[in-house]
Amino acid sequence: MSVETAKKILLNELLQLKTDNRTKFFEIAFLGGEPFLNFSVIKTISEWIWKQNIIIHYEITVRTNGTLLSKEIKEWLLKNKKRIKVGLSMDGLSEMNIFNRTSISIDWKFFYYNWPDERIKIVLFKDSIQYLKKTVDEMNDLYIPFYVEIGEGFLWDTADAGVFEHQLLELVSDYILKADEAVACGLFSFNQADFFPKHKMTDILFCGKSNNIIAYDIDGSPCICHLFSTPVQSYDVARNSWNNLRDVHSVPMDPQCISCPVQKVCKTCFGENMRLYNTIYKSAAINTTCNAVKAKSRVCAYYYLKCIENKIESGNILSKEERDTAIKCINLLNNIPTYIKEI
Ligand code: SF4
Ligand code: SF4
Repeated sequence: MSVETAKKILLNELLQLKTDNRTKFFEIAFLGGEPFLNFSVIKTISEWIWKQNIIIHYEITVRTNGTLLSKEIKEWLLKNKKRIKVGLSMDGLSEMNIFNRTSISIDWKFFYYNWPDERIKIVLFKDSIQYLKKTVDEMNDLYIPFYVEIGEGFLWDTADAGVFEHQLLELVSDYILKADEAVACGLFSFNQADFFPKHKMTDILFCGKSNNIIAYDIDGSPCICHLFSTPVQSYDVARNSWNNLRDVHSVPMDPQCISCPVQKVCKTCFGENMRLYNTIYKSAAINTTCNAVKAKSRVCAYYYLKCIENKIESGNILSKEERDTAIKCINLLNNIPTYIKEI
């Protein structure tokens, strides 16, 4: 994206904000690929935004893999660290990051010390999932805050899901007394966000975070979200999707998912559907992350039951909600068979 295109987009958005009294906060997120490939635009545009007379609270954010952190970028970020939030994506400190991303040594301390509230994002892929416990232990040993999510777009077969389930089970005892952190780091949480089909395309939760997003393509054209942009799809698919799909009100659930006990925690990413099948109406999740989601749900249920067991053994009385949730967890374990036999 050029500076001129970025300015044009933002001028238009800022103009609209002047007459929109609903918006109390907005975020400008520089997205990649790797955003620092275009550092000059990030720098120029951020400095330009800071000079505008913006009265609404806003923040500028960047998520990077840290591989392009030059002296120049570092100095500029340090100078402006109170005005720009930078989060690191790094899959741990050893094998998992080397396998998934890069063998380049990442200066994670730079991010950790300057933006301590930004959790490091760890993405899980089946080919390195055997390193999950080691990765988590190494991060925890250094008190590095992290957040784990399942990587999309790749098939997890039942054996891969078995390794994932086993690795997660190995972590249960470490997190029994740290329920808040267990949820915050994404290892044991159930994402209770509703499944997406009841939303209009433009109302879709932005990866679970917000229902108000507008993404702009490299030429300044609007996109449904970053997964519907030219770098992910193609220029024509991005434009066709914006023209024809953004007002879709509902997408029928795949018949295989209707009776699935974990359908409400399984993310339907229409961008992935489009990327893999050239249509939003065929579920990518079924042929990619399905087994991983189910394996994780099993361990989440088991984790919850262990927490409850702990509570009972400590002489505490369970609330009705806790009893009901425990029953749901037992049902879930009975309905989704373990994958561990597949290892
Ligand atoms: S876990 Fe599998 S079957 Fe269940 S909703 Fe997700 S894709 Fe569908
Ligand atoms: S289509 Fe996928 S990437 Fe786009 S907002 Fe929905 S879940 Fe997020």
